[in-house]
Amino acid sequence: MASSPCDGCGCDVRIAGGIANIWTFGGDDADGLTLELTDGSDHLLCYDCIERLPDDPTATDVAALGSDTE
Ligand SMILES: [Zn+2]
Repeated sequence: MASSPCDGCGCDVRIAGGIANIWTFGGDDADGLTLELTDGSDHLLCYDCIERLPDDPTATDVAALGSDTE
């Protein structure tokens, strides 16, 4: 288990540490995941930020997360 700052809001995100855990969505082990965008960049995001992204997010949408806190 590792922890890194969310690229959107900057909060601490616990992520699964090994490949064996990556597809385990049933538990509470991870707070977020790495989202690969259509432009080829990838961003570590918490689930709150992922929910706020549009269906086809871009790096601009990810950057906007940090300045659009509710
Ligand atoms: Zn976040």
